[in-house]
Amino acid sequence: MLVQESVRISTILETQKQFFRTNKTKNIEFRIKQLQNLKQAINENQSNIFKALKADLNKSGFDAYFEFIGIIKEIDYALKHIKNWVKPQKVATPWHQFPASTHIYSEPFGVTLIIGPWNYPFNLLMTPLIGAIASGNCAVLKPSEISAQSSIVIAEIISKTFESGFIKVIEGGVEVTQELLTEKFDHIFFTGGTEVGKIVMSAAAKHLTPVTLELGGKSPCIVDETTHLEYTAKRIVWGKFINAGQTCTAPDYLLVHKNIKASLLNKIKKYIKEFYGDVPSDSRNYSRIINQKHFFRLANFLKYGTIILGGDTHLEDLYIAPTLIDQVSWEDKIMQEEIFGPILPVIEYTDIDEAIAIINEKPKPLALYFFSNNKQHQTKVLQSTASGGVCINDTVMHLTIPSLPFGGVGESGMGRYHGKAGFENFSYQRSVLNKSFLWDLKWRYYPTPKGVKKS
Ligand code: NAD
Repeated sequence: MLVQESVRISTILETQKQFFRTNKTKNIEFRIKQLQNLKQAINENQSNIFKALKADLNKSGFDAYFEFIGIIKEIDYALKHIKNWVKPQKVATPWHQFPASTHIYSEPFGVTLIIGPWNYPFNLLMTPLIGAIASGNCAVLKPSEISAQSSIVIAEIISKTFESGFIKVIEGGVEVTQELLTEKFDHIFFTGGTEVGKIVMSAAAKHLTPVTLELGGKSPCIVDETTHLEYTAKRIVWGKFINAGQTCTAPDYLLVHKNIKASLLNKIKKYIKEFYGDVPSDSRNYSRIINQKHFFRLANFLKYGTIILGGDTHLEDLYIAPTLIDQVSWEDKIMQEEIFGPILPVIEYTDIDEAIAIINEKPKPLALYFFSNNKQHQTKVLQSTASGGVCINDTVMHLTIPSLPFGGVGESGMGRYHGKAGFENFSYQRSVLNKSFLWDLKWRYYPTPKGVKKS
């Protein structure tokens, strides 16, 4: 199978390289038309997308809409701004180069490989694709094999919308991703876990292929004693339990000031009930865990600390209740690994410096959340920590804003996308000096002219 697969993959790659060499993708009108085609295809397939999300993750209601509308908004934003993005940027030319002009051109890499995860299977493959098309690349897409129904729908949408020399989906398991990674792409965009990110980067290094790594990790959520409790609880519950906690930027754990811990937890319980009812397993708005492997991984976390809400699990439909856990220790596995599920451990602190020190001992997170009305504390947290992104007084929402570049730092990843950052991510900057034949200054030629310093 692998030999056949590699023949197929190398043929697809060669076809895309030839397509790229025709320069079709560099034409701005072509790019606009392809983005419009993608938007139309996503809109026309809305119900198929929703059905696949329901089948893979029991995702429905706002959770499914959130995934879908993010793609449409991102295409609209690219269509609105692309003509500005592609303009060569005129820069200053030093006098000793006159007469000349100097410009920076944004050029496509060529053929890019986009590897997606299963948690937002459409959004996290299509949003990078928008950047790839806008900047004039061809693309091979590898959806996650774990969100199997979504993978099928993605392959159908893409094969009906684009010629395979331009955009092509290759489905399959880990071995297919590994096979793809042996090929020489011009750029690789990977979204997934930190460990697989390392595999992707070392495979890319063999060809000196540039990579964008959108990874995960433990995103902390600090709540200080000056916060607006009601809104804080509501925004935490939304960001943590959307998609049953399987969101890369979900708050992983709470660091809450000891004076408000009890009242915050009461409010969080209130909003879990308000959003998902007394029995969240009956709620049509509550997603399921993607598969048994992740179900058992998460169920295993429930043995740590003291469960103060939730804790119910149903293997038959991969349900894990929205769960709050108190009294965990940093040595527990639940505090060592990214949770990536509907379990929220709560740790109390007494001083903001203590909370900052805890965060700074750990790998730099993808997101950092801080709820506080204290401006000095806000500045202090911003200045003394590092993370891919920050929301002050909210969770997850920063990634819905196309003018904010999205990505990680350190172990949570490298590179940025969304909006203009997506365009830039799939381009390289080509510096162009264009000299005139009008005259030729002598300062660099031998014999050295008078007045030019000799060493
Ligand atoms: P994953 O790393 O297991 O898989 C992602 C992709 O990598 C899949 O397409 C899979 O086929 C491929 N893959 C898996 N094992 C491989 C291997 N050994 N060699 C080569 N390819 C391999 O990630 P996942 O489970 O799909 O997603 C969960 C992780 O992704 C979490 O850590 C989460 O935080 C992160 N994530 C990050 C973002 C972000 O935007 N930063 C978004 C979503 C998810």
